[in-house]
Amino acid sequence: MKILVINAGSSSLKYQLLDMRDESVLCKGNCERIGIDGRISYKNHEGYNVTLERDFPTHAEAFQAVLHEIVEGEGHVIGSLSEIAAIGHRVTHGGIRLAKSVLIDDSVIDTILEAAPLSPLHNPPQATTIRACRDLFGEALPMVAVFDTAFHTTMPKKARAFAVPYRFYEEHNIRRFGFHGTSHRYVTDRAASLRGKMPQRLITCHLGNGSSITAIRDGRVIDTSMGFSPLDGLLMGTRCGTIDASLVTYLMEVDNLSPAEINRVLNSESGLLGVSGVSSDFREVSAAAEKGNERAQLAVDMLEYQITKFCGSYMAALGGLDTIVFTGGIGENAIDLRRHVVENLSFLGITLDEAANSVRGEEIRISTPDSKVDVWVIPTNEELMIARDTAAFVKNEN
Ligand code: ADP
Repeated sequence: MKILVINAGSSSLKYQLLDMRDESVLCKGNCERIGIDGRISYKNHEGYNVTLERDFPTHAEAFQAVLHEIVEGEGHVIGSLSEIAAIGHRVTHGGIRLAKSVLIDDSVIDTILEAAPLSPLHNPPQATTIRACRDLFGEALPMVAVFDTAFHTTMPKKARAFAVPYRFYEEHNIRRFGFHGTSHRYVTDRAASLRGKMPQRLITCHLGNGSSITAIRDGRVIDTSMGFSPLDGLLMGTRCGTIDASLVTYLMEVDNLSPAEINRVLNSESGLLGVSGVSSDFREVSAAAEKGNERAQLAVDMLEYQITKFCGSYMAALGGLDTIVFTGGIGENAIDLRRHVVENLSFLGITLDEAANSVRGEEIRISTPDSKVDVWVIPTNEELMIARDTAAFVKNEN
Protein backbone atom coordinates (compact mmCIF):
# COMPACT_ATOMS: atom_id res chain seq x y z
CA MET A 1 0.00 0.00 0.00
CA LYS A 2 1.35 3.44 -0.96
CA ILE A 3 0.51 6.42 1.22
CA LEU A 4 1.18 10.05 0.35
CA VAL A 5 1.89 12.29 3.34
CA ILE A 6 1.41 16.04 3.05
CA ASN A 7 2.54 18.69 5.48
CA ALA A 8 1.37 22.12 4.31
CA GLY A 9 2.65 25.30 5.94
CA SER A 10 1.76 28.90 5.22
CA SER A 11 4.00 29.12 2.14
CA SER A 12 5.37 25.58 1.94
CA LEU A 13 4.26 22.03 1.29
CA LYS A 14 6.38 19.05 2.32
CA TYR A 15 5.51 15.64 0.93
CA GLN A 16 6.58 12.01 1.16
CA LEU A 17 5.34 8.92 -0.63
CA LEU A 18 5.77 5.79 1.47
CA ASP A 19 5.48 2.13 0.59
CA MET A 20 3.85 0.69 3.70
CA ARG A 21 4.97 -2.88 2.96
CA ASP A 22 8.34 -1.98 4.45
CA GLU A 23 7.61 1.64 5.44
CA SER A 24 10.24 2.81 2.97
CA VAL A 25 10.21 6.28 1.44
CA LEU A 26 9.79 6.20 -2.34
CA CYS A 27 10.20 9.93 -2.82
CA LYS A 28 10.06 13.13 -0.86
CA GLY A 29 10.58 16.83 -1.14
CA ASN A 30 9.42 20.29 -0.38
CA CYS A 31 7.62 23.10 -2.20
CA GLU A 32 8.78 26.43 -0.86
CA ARG A 33 7.86 30.06 -1.37
CA ILE A 34 4.35 29.26 -2.61
CA GLY A 35 2.57 32.51 -3.44
CA ILE A 36 5.91 34.38 -3.51
CA ASP A 37 7.66 32.72 -6.43
CA GLY A 38 8.24 29.01 -6.03
CA ARG A 39 10.79 26.23 -5.67
CA ILE A 40 10.16 22.48 -5.61
CA SER A 41 12.65 19.85 -4.55
CA TYR A 42 12.08 16.20 -5.45
CA LYS A 43 14.23 13.25 -4.47
CA ASN A 44 13.49 9.59 -5.10
CA HIS A 45 14.75 6.40 -3.43
CA GLU A 46 17.17 5.72 -6.27
CA GLY A 47 19.06 8.98 -5.73
CA TYR A 48 17.35 10.99 -8.47
CA ASN A 49 17.25 14.62 -7.38
CA VAL A 50 15.75 17.69 -9.03
CA THR A 51 14.89 21.26 -8.11
CA LEU A 52 12.32 23.22 -10.09
CA GLU A 53 12.16 26.99 -9.91
CA ARG A 54 8.79 28.11 -11.19
CA ASP A 55 5.96 30.40 -10.03
CA PHE A 56 3.40 28.61 -7.89
CA PRO A 57 0.69 31.08 -6.87
CA THR A 58 -1.22 28.47 -4.83
CA HIS A 59 -0.68 25.24 -2.88
CA ALA A 60 -2.87 23.45 -5.44
CA GLU A 61 -0.56 24.41 -8.30
CA ALA A 62 2.54 23.38 -6.37
CA PHE A 63 0.90 20.08 -5.49
CA GLN A 64 0.04 19.41 -9.13
CA ALA A 65 3.68 19.90 -10.08
CA VAL A 66 4.72 17.43 -7.34
CA LEU A 67 2.28 14.83 -8.64
CA HIS A 68 3.70 15.30 -12.12
CA GLU A 69 7.19 14.46 -10.79
CA ILE A 70 5.89 11.43 -8.89
CA VAL A 71 4.04 9.90 -11.84
CA GLU A 72 5.57 11.27 -15.03
CA GLY A 73 8.84 13.01 -14.22
CA GLU A 74 12.25 11.61 -15.12
CA GLY A 75 12.57 10.18 -11.61
CA HIS A 76 8.96 9.00 -11.27
CA VAL A 77 8.28 6.27 -8.72
CA ILE A 78 4.78 5.10 -9.69
CA GLY A 79 3.04 4.60 -13.03
CA SER A 80 -0.33 6.06 -12.14
CA LEU A 81 -2.00 8.14 -9.44
CA SER A 82 -4.34 5.22 -8.77
CA GLU A 83 -1.44 3.47 -7.00
CA ILE A 84 -1.81 5.95 -4.13
CA ALA A 85 -4.12 4.24 -1.64
CA ALA A 86 -4.68 7.24 0.64
CA ILE A 87 -3.35 10.63 1.64
CA GLY A 88 -2.40 11.60 5.20
CA HIS A 89 -2.45 15.31 6.03
CA ARG A 90 -0.64 16.90 8.91
CA VAL A 91 -3.00 19.41 10.50
CA THR A 92 -1.64 21.78 13.12
CA HIS A 93 -4.70 22.35 15.26
CA GLY A 94 -7.62 20.07 15.96
CA GLY A 95 -9.38 22.67 18.10
CA ILE A 96 -11.33 21.30 21.04
CA ARG A 97 -13.23 18.70 19.06
CA LEU A 98 -10.73 16.71 17.01
CA ALA A 99 -8.82 14.65 19.54
CA LYS A 100 -7.42 11.92 17.30
CA SER A 101 -6.69 11.19 13.66
CA VAL A 102 -9.85 11.14 11.55
CA LEU A 103 -11.00 10.20 8.10
CA ILE A 104 -11.65 13.49 6.31
CA ASP A 105 -15.15 14.45 5.23
CA ASP A 106 -16.84 17.85 4.84
CA SER A 107 -17.52 18.20 8.55
CA VAL A 108 -13.84 17.55 9.38
CA ILE A 109 -12.78 20.27 6.93
CA ASP A 110 -15.30 22.63 8.57
CA THR A 111 -13.89 21.81 12.01
CA ILE A 112 -10.31 22.40 10.80
CA LEU A 113 -11.45 25.82 9.57
CA GLU A 114 -13.32 26.48 12.82
CA ALA A 115 -10.00 26.05 14.61
CA ALA A 116 -8.32 28.57 12.26
CA PRO A 117 -8.43 31.43 14.81
CA LEU A 118 -6.30 29.22 17.06
CA SER A 119 -3.79 28.52 14.26
CA PRO A 120 -4.17 31.30 11.69
CA LEU A 121 -0.96 30.60 9.77
CA HIS A 122 -1.40 26.86 9.35
CA ASN A 123 -4.98 25.58 9.51
CA PRO A 124 -6.26 27.66 6.53
CA PRO A 125 -3.59 26.52 4.01
CA GLN A 126 -3.94 22.96 5.33
CA ALA A 127 -7.70 23.02 4.70
CA THR A 128 -7.08 24.50 1.26
CA THR A 129 -4.58 21.75 0.45
CA ILE A 130 -7.04 19.08 1.58
CA ARG A 131 -9.67 20.53 -0.74
CA ALA A 132 -7.16 20.72 -3.60
CA CYS A 133 -6.32 17.03 -3.14
CA ARG A 134 -9.98 16.19 -3.21
CA ASP A 135 -10.44 18.08 -6.45
CA LEU A 136 -7.51 16.26 -8.01
CA PHE A 137 -8.18 12.76 -6.70
CA GLY A 138 -11.96 12.77 -6.28
CA GLU A 139 -13.93 11.99 -3.12
CA ALA A 140 -13.34 8.24 -3.28
CA LEU A 141 -9.70 8.48 -2.19
CA PRO A 142 -9.48 8.17 1.61
CA MET A 143 -7.75 11.10 3.27
CA VAL A 144 -6.85 11.24 6.94
CA ALA A 145 -6.08 14.28 9.11
CA VAL A 146 -3.43 13.82 11.81
CA PHE A 147 -3.34 16.64 14.37
CA ASP A 148 -0.34 18.11 16.21
CA THR A 149 -2.61 18.77 19.18
CA ALA A 150 -4.21 15.31 19.36
CA PHE A 151 -1.67 13.46 21.51
CA HIS A 152 -2.03 16.09 24.23
CA THR A 153 -5.79 15.82 24.71
CA THR A 154 -5.28 13.39 27.62
CA MET A 155 -3.87 16.21 29.78
CA PRO A 156 -5.85 16.67 32.98
CA LYS A 157 -7.67 19.94 33.37
CA LYS A 158 -5.34 21.15 36.12
CA ALA A 159 -2.49 21.08 33.56
CA ARG A 160 -4.64 22.38 30.74
CA ALA A 161 -6.31 25.39 32.35
CA PHE A 162 -4.72 28.83 32.75
CA ALA A 163 -5.50 30.82 35.89
CA VAL A 164 -7.46 33.51 34.07
CA PRO A 165 -11.22 33.98 34.61
CA TYR A 166 -12.85 30.64 33.92
CA ARG A 167 -15.30 32.11 31.44
CA PHE A 168 -12.36 32.45 28.97
CA TYR A 169 -11.95 28.67 29.09
CA GLU A 170 -15.60 28.25 28.19
CA GLU A 171 -16.16 31.17 25.83
CA HIS A 172 -12.86 31.38 23.95
CA ASN A 173 -11.30 27.92 24.42
CA ILE A 174 -8.41 29.45 26.36
CA ARG A 175 -6.42 26.40 27.44
CA ARG A 176 -3.13 24.59 26.96
CA PHE A 177 -3.37 22.65 23.70
CA GLY A 178 0.24 21.59 23.21
CA PHE A 179 1.90 20.96 19.83
CA HIS A 180 4.43 18.61 18.15
CA GLY A 181 2.08 15.84 19.30
CA THR A 182 2.86 13.58 16.35
CA SER A 183 6.57 13.76 17.11
CA HIS A 184 6.09 13.15 20.85
CA ARG A 185 3.82 10.20 20.01
CA TYR A 186 6.30 8.72 17.54
CA VAL A 187 9.22 8.80 19.97
CA THR A 188 6.98 7.49 22.78
CA ASP A 189 6.08 4.47 20.62
CA ARG A 190 9.73 3.96 19.70
CA ALA A 191 10.82 4.23 23.34
CA ALA A 192 8.27 1.53 24.19
CA SER A 193 9.56 -0.73 21.40
CA LEU A 194 13.20 -0.18 22.36
CA ARG A 195 12.58 -0.91 26.04
CA GLY A 196 10.21 -3.78 25.33
CA LYS A 197 7.43 -2.03 27.27
CA MET A 198 5.84 1.39 27.55
CA PRO A 199 7.82 3.53 30.02
CA GLN A 200 5.71 4.39 33.04
CA ARG A 201 7.21 7.84 33.49
CA LEU A 202 8.66 9.38 30.34
CA ILE A 203 9.84 12.86 29.35
CA THR A 204 10.19 13.57 25.63
CA CYS A 205 12.24 16.61 24.56
CA HIS A 206 11.50 17.72 20.99
CA LEU A 207 14.18 20.36 20.38
CA GLY A 208 14.24 21.97 16.92
CA ASN A 209 13.49 25.42 15.55
CA GLY A 210 10.35 25.01 17.61
CA SER A 211 10.75 23.07 20.83
CA SER A 212 8.53 21.40 23.38
CA ILE A 213 8.89 19.02 26.29
CA THR A 214 6.17 16.56 27.29
CA ALA A 215 5.51 14.50 30.41
CA ILE A 216 3.95 11.13 29.58
CA ARG A 217 2.63 8.57 32.06
CA ASP A 218 1.91 5.08 30.72
CA GLY A 219 1.80 6.43 27.18
CA ARG A 220 -0.61 9.29 27.98
CA VAL A 221 0.38 12.96 28.09
CA ILE A 222 -0.08 14.59 31.48
CA ASP A 223 1.62 17.91 30.70
CA THR A 224 3.44 19.70 27.89
CA SER A 225 5.42 22.91 27.62
CA MET A 226 3.73 24.54 24.62
CA GLY A 227 0.45 26.10 25.60
CA PHE A 228 -2.40 27.93 23.91
CA SER A 229 -0.01 28.57 21.04
CA PRO A 230 3.43 27.27 20.03
CA LEU A 231 4.97 30.39 21.59
CA ASP A 232 4.93 28.98 25.12
CA GLY A 233 7.47 26.88 27.01
CA LEU A 234 11.15 26.73 26.05
CA LEU A 235 12.96 29.55 24.31
CA MET A 236 13.24 28.56 20.64
CA GLY A 237 14.93 29.75 17.44
CA THR A 238 12.99 33.00 17.30
CA ARG A 239 10.25 32.50 19.93
CA CYS A 240 10.57 33.72 23.49
CA GLY A 241 8.90 30.78 25.24
CA THR A 242 7.36 31.35 28.66
CA ILE A 243 7.71 34.94 29.85
CA ASP A 244 6.04 37.06 32.49
CA ALA A 245 2.72 37.97 30.83
CA SER A 246 3.00 41.57 32.06
CA LEU A 247 5.93 42.05 29.67
CA VAL A 248 3.47 42.07 26.80
CA THR A 249 1.58 45.20 27.87
CA TYR A 250 4.70 46.81 29.38
CA LEU A 251 6.69 46.48 26.13
CA MET A 252 3.73 47.67 24.09
CA GLU A 253 3.66 50.82 26.20
CA VAL A 254 7.37 51.62 26.52
CA ASP A 255 8.20 50.77 22.91
CA ASN A 256 4.88 51.99 21.49
CA LEU A 257 4.15 48.62 19.83
CA SER A 258 0.86 47.54 18.26
CA PRO A 259 -0.54 44.02 18.92
CA ALA A 260 0.87 42.88 15.56
CA GLU A 261 4.29 44.34 16.40
CA ILE A 262 4.55 42.75 19.85
CA ASN A 263 3.46 39.48 18.25
CA ARG A 264 6.30 39.80 15.76
CA VAL A 265 8.82 40.63 18.50
CA LEU A 266 7.88 37.61 20.61
CA ASN A 267 7.46 35.12 17.75
CA SER A 268 10.13 36.18 15.25
CA GLU A 269 12.74 38.33 16.99
CA SER A 270 13.20 36.58 20.33
CA GLY A 271 14.59 33.22 21.48
CA LEU A 272 18.10 32.21 20.40
CA LEU A 273 18.11 35.01 17.81
CA GLY A 274 16.92 37.71 20.18
CA VAL A 275 19.28 36.84 23.01
CA SER A 276 22.40 36.08 20.95
CA GLY A 277 21.93 38.61 18.16
CA VAL A 278 23.74 36.01 16.03
CA SER A 279 21.21 33.60 14.56
CA SER A 280 18.10 31.54 15.24
CA ASP A 281 20.07 28.43 14.28
CA PHE A 282 21.43 26.56 17.29
CA ARG A 283 24.53 25.38 15.42
CA GLU A 284 25.52 28.95 14.58
CA VAL A 285 24.75 30.22 18.07
CA SER A 286 26.81 27.48 19.74
CA ALA A 287 29.69 28.05 17.29
CA ALA A 288 29.67 31.76 18.20
CA ALA A 289 29.56 30.84 21.91
CA GLU A 290 32.62 28.64 21.48
CA LYS A 291 34.46 31.59 19.94
CA GLY A 292 33.73 33.64 23.06
CA ASN A 293 30.56 35.53 22.09
CA GLU A 294 28.98 36.17 25.50
CA ARG A 295 25.42 36.72 24.35
CA ALA A 296 25.55 33.54 22.28
CA GLN A 297 26.84 31.71 25.37
CA LEU A 298 23.98 33.19 27.41
CA ALA A 299 21.43 31.91 24.86
CA VAL A 300 22.91 28.39 25.01
CA ASP A 301 23.06 28.49 28.83
CA MET A 302 19.45 29.66 29.03
CA LEU A 303 18.24 26.86 26.75
CA GLU A 304 20.12 24.17 28.70
CA TYR A 305 18.86 25.60 31.99
CA GLN A 306 15.26 25.71 30.80
CA ILE A 307 15.37 22.13 29.49
CA THR A 308 16.74 21.06 32.89
CA LYS A 309 13.99 22.95 34.73
CA PHE A 310 11.22 21.44 32.62
CA CYS A 311 12.64 17.96 33.12
CA GLY A 312 12.82 18.55 36.88
CA SER A 313 9.27 19.85 37.16
CA TYR A 314 7.88 17.11 34.93
CA MET A 315 9.71 14.51 36.96
CA ALA A 316 7.85 15.86 40.00
CA ALA A 317 4.55 15.84 38.07
CA LEU A 318 5.18 12.22 37.03
CA GLY A 319 6.26 11.20 40.54
CA GLY A 320 9.61 9.89 39.27
CA LEU A 321 11.28 9.20 35.98
CA ASP A 322 12.25 6.10 33.94
CA THR A 323 13.16 7.50 30.54
CA ILE A 324 14.14 10.73 28.79
CA VAL A 325 14.11 11.01 25.00
CA PHE A 326 15.87 13.69 22.96
CA THR A 327 14.59 14.36 19.44
CA GLY A 328 14.34 17.18 16.83
CA GLY A 329 17.29 18.78 15.06
CA ILE A 330 18.92 19.98 18.30
CA GLY A 331 17.98 16.94 20.39
CA GLU A 332 19.32 14.55 17.75
CA ASN A 333 22.56 16.40 17.05
CA ALA A 334 23.67 18.73 19.83
CA ILE A 335 26.14 16.55 21.72
CA ASP A 336 27.29 19.17 24.24
CA LEU A 337 23.76 20.33 25.04
CA ARG A 338 22.70 16.73 25.77
CA ARG A 339 25.78 16.20 27.95
CA HIS A 340 25.13 19.38 29.93
CA VAL A 341 21.44 18.59 30.50
CA VAL A 342 22.26 15.04 31.65
CA GLU A 343 25.01 16.41 33.93
CA ASN A 344 22.53 18.90 35.39
CA LEU A 345 20.24 15.94 36.18
CA SER A 346 23.00 13.70 37.53
CA PHE A 347 21.55 14.01 41.07
CA LEU A 348 18.91 11.56 39.79
CA GLY A 349 21.57 8.91 39.31
CA ILE A 350 21.66 9.38 35.54
CA THR A 351 25.02 8.59 33.99
CA LEU A 352 25.98 9.38 30.44
CA ASP A 353 27.67 6.97 28.06
CA GLU A 354 30.09 9.48 26.49
CA ALA A 355 30.85 7.32 23.44
CA ALA A 356 27.17 6.78 22.67
CA ASN A 357 26.46 10.48 23.19
CA SER A 358 29.08 11.43 20.60
CA VAL A 359 26.81 10.07 17.86
CA ARG A 360 24.59 12.46 15.89
CA GLY A 361 21.21 11.79 14.31
CA GLU A 362 20.94 8.10 15.20
CA GLU A 363 18.70 6.06 17.43
CA ILE A 364 20.87 5.25 20.41
CA ARG A 365 20.80 4.93 24.19
CA ILE A 366 23.15 7.53 25.62
CA SER A 367 22.91 6.49 29.29
CA THR A 368 25.06 3.73 30.76
CA PRO A 369 23.46 0.34 31.58
CA ASP A 370 23.57 1.12 35.34
CA SER A 371 22.01 4.60 34.97
CA LYS A 372 18.89 5.06 37.13
CA VAL A 373 17.12 6.70 34.18
CA ASP A 374 17.37 5.58 30.55
CA VAL A 375 18.26 8.40 28.18
CA TRP A 376 17.69 7.88 24.46
CA VAL A 377 18.22 9.83 21.27
CA ILE A 378 15.40 8.91 18.88
CA PRO A 379 15.26 10.72 15.52
CA THR A 380 11.67 11.78 15.03
CA ASN A 381 9.61 10.67 12.05
CA GLU A 382 6.31 12.52 11.96
CA GLU A 383 5.68 11.51 8.33
CA LEU A 384 5.88 7.81 9.19
CA MET A 385 3.47 8.32 12.11
CA ILE A 386 1.02 10.09 9.77
CA ALA A 387 1.39 7.35 7.17
CA ARG A 388 0.74 4.66 9.80
CA ASP A 389 -2.39 6.41 11.05
CA THR A 390 -3.59 6.82 7.48
CA ALA A 391 -2.87 3.21 6.54
CA ALA A 392 -4.80 2.04 9.62
CA PHE A 393 -7.95 3.72 8.30
CA VAL A 394 -7.56 2.18 4.86
CA LYS A 395 -6.98 -1.29 6.34
CA ASN A 396 -10.05 -0.88 8.55
CA GLU A 397 -12.14 0.11 5.55
CA ASN A 398 -11.21 -2.96 3.52
P1 ADP B 1 12.20 22.31 12.66
O1 ADP B 1 11.63 22.62 14.00
O2 ADP B 1 12.15 23.45 11.70
O3 ADP B 1 11.74 20.98 12.08
P2 ADP B 1 14.70 20.91 13.13
O4 ADP B 1 14.08 19.86 13.98
O5 ADP B 1 15.26 20.52 11.81
O6 ADP B 1 13.76 22.16 12.92
O7 ADP B 1 15.87 21.58 14.01
C1 ADP B 1 16.61 22.66 13.56
C2 ADP B 1 17.64 23.00 14.63
O8 ADP B 1 18.53 21.89 14.79
C3 ADP B 1 18.48 24.20 14.28
O9 ADP B 1 18.58 25.07 15.39
C4 ADP B 1 19.82 23.58 13.97
O10 ADP B 1 20.91 24.44 14.28
C5 ADP B 1 19.83 22.39 14.90
N1 ADP B 1 20.84 21.43 14.44
C6 ADP B 1 20.88 20.74 13.29
N2 ADP B 1 22.03 20.03 13.19
C7 ADP B 1 22.75 20.30 14.31
C8 ADP B 1 24.03 19.91 14.80
N3 ADP B 1 24.82 19.09 14.11
N4 ADP B 1 24.42 20.38 16.01
C9 ADP B 1 23.66 21.21 16.71
N5 ADP B 1 22.43 21.64 16.30
C10 ADP B 1 22.00 21.20 15.12
